[in-house]
Amino acid sequence: MSIQVFGMPVSRGVAIGRAVLVASSRVDVAHYFVPDAEVDREIERLRAARDEVAQELTVLKRDLPSDAPSELSALMDVHLMLLHDESLTGATKTWIRERHYNAEWALSAQLEVLARQFDEMEDDYLRERKADVEQVVERLLRSLARANSGADGSARAVIGQGARDFAGEDPLVLVANDVAPADMLQFKRSVFTGFVTDVGGRTSHTAIVARSMDIPAVVGAREASRLIRQDDWLVIDGDAGVVIVNPSPIVLEEYRFRQRASELERARLDRLRFTPAVTLDGVPVELLANIELPGDAAGAVEAGAVGVGLFRSEFLFMNRDGNLPDEEEQFESYRAAVLAMEGLPVTIRTVDIGADKPLERLSVQDLRHEHSLNPALGLRAIRWSLAEPAMFRQQLRAILRASAFGKVRVLVPMVAHRSQIHQTLEALARAKQQLDDVGKPYSRVELGAMIEIPAAALTIDLFVKHFDFVSIGTNDLIQYTLAIDRADEAVSHLYDPWHPAVLQLLSTTIARANAAGRNVCVCGEMAGDPAFTELLLGMGLRSFSMHPARISSIKQRVLRADSRRLVSQVQQVLASETPDIEATRLFGAS
Ligand code: PEP
Ligand code: MG
Repeated sequence: MSIQVFGMPVSRGVAIGRAVLVASSRVDVAHYFVPDAEVDREIERLRAARDEVAQELTVLKRDLPSDAPSELSALMDVHLMLLHDESLTGATKTWIRERHYNAEWALSAQLEVLARQFDEMEDDYLRERKADVEQVVERLLRSLARANSGADGSARAVIGQGARDFAGEDPLVLVANDVAPADMLQFKRSVFTGFVTDVGGRTSHTAIVARSMDIPAVVGAREASRLIRQDDWLVIDGDAGVVIVNPSPIVLEEYRFRQRASELERARLDRLRFTPAVTLDGVPVELLANIELPGDAAGAVEAGAVGVGLFRSEFLFMNRDGNLPDEEEQFESYRAAVLAMEGLPVTIRTVDIGADKPLERLSVQDLRHEHSLNPALGLRAIRWSLAEPAMFRQQLRAILRASAFGKVRVLVPMVAHRSQIHQTLEALARAKQQLDDVGKPYSRVELGAMIEIPAAALTIDLFVKHFDFVSIGTNDLIQYTLAIDRADEAVSHLYDPWHPAVLQLLSTTIARANAAGRNVCVCGEMAGDPAFTELLLGMGLRSFSMHPARISSIKQRVLRADSRRLVSQVQQVLASETPDIEATRLFGAS
């Protein structure tokens, strides 16, 4: 039966594929595809694990103390029986053979299937046997991990790695309750053609990374991972934020048609890649790229970006098990990005750790429940850096050293207080002094502040006085202005970029920065959303930073805009009680 699941659109387009369900508790289980030639070996790994667990259980049973309750011995028998049951190991082999999942992934997939069957059982006793299956699977996973760490020293592979060419086979769509931003990053090199998550908001960092991959995704689809089953056929409508489960042939045909149409539109827009972005009345507009890793820089150049407006350096610091990158490693990464940009400027943001980007592999839900109650208001971004002054200076030294290889700008996130401005300036001066002392070269770097806390927008004059440029982080500016957690799907309907308060802050910040002769950029998601291009141009914005994949669509809007006319039209939008409706009337739908 076909059902629909509603969520929030993250990345446009249509994806069609089979569901791959990943339980959040199993995200740190290795997930990769095994090549044809290694399928038999993978099945052998599974068999060896099964034999080892059988041995383990037999010994456990044999060594039970004589006064142990008889239920314990019976439980061992149940576990042994489950271990040899076709529905567990037999079906797991099928996942390996037919889908090419590695053994761990195949086991988790089969556990999902069995868990659902148990959940649906009427009989309480049988329903509770689910826990036994889980324990047996846990033993098998541990045995596989032991064998793995013996073989190559790494017990944990990362989800999405080892992608292989699946030409000719069904495309796959990942369905999960939640995926941490750093895990999402791993998917960049994976085979998934779409994503669905139960939690998350449009500008949660997980969604941002998904969008940077430019494949259709829906987040905040609440019940998705419960309603969707392994291997179901899914259509992801990334424009409407809808997931259609097991669509009828007619619906499927309709979506295949839309998929082809959006591919054609993409190819048409692609031709604009290297056309300079200039408005109809001759005003040049700078379209920059947001990147997460140095490896993304080449894609930015290819997409026609004239520089990097935001390098989210914190992604270099995540999932390192406490082993944070030292100065040398950071320097290599920044230099790699600078070299890949071939002389174009690279704006490196100092770490924005905290909130929904923890250092450890945690999902947003884990964070809320296990850590600070309000992580978005806690020790995040520059607050974190200033609390770790030696690490902050280390990062500044690494960035400064990369400036010897190209044009580099430093951007500081979440500054709001005068004291933070001065501490940042001092830290930069000390980092330069430390490099001078050891004779390491660096060039002049411009220093910028992110304007993403309303307090900073309201005191913008202070910022343009002390910084060379400012960059407006609309994702956080909206979050903090409207008091809406950007990662919480329960309040995502209130996350409104069109709120008059947000528009006023934006308009004043851009105007005051322009008046002071300071470069002002928008690097939040609004910059890459064509619904806001005319509005921002009319406010006087001339620099936009976005995911490389968005550049061509925004350029198309810039090429068709007349900046002089937009100034008065934007006044009408700002004066309206319903700015979104007024903007659509004046500028047309995106
Ligand atoms: C923003 O807040 O708009 C921004 C660009 O930074 P991030 O999304 O990484 O918080
Ligand atoms: Mg931000």
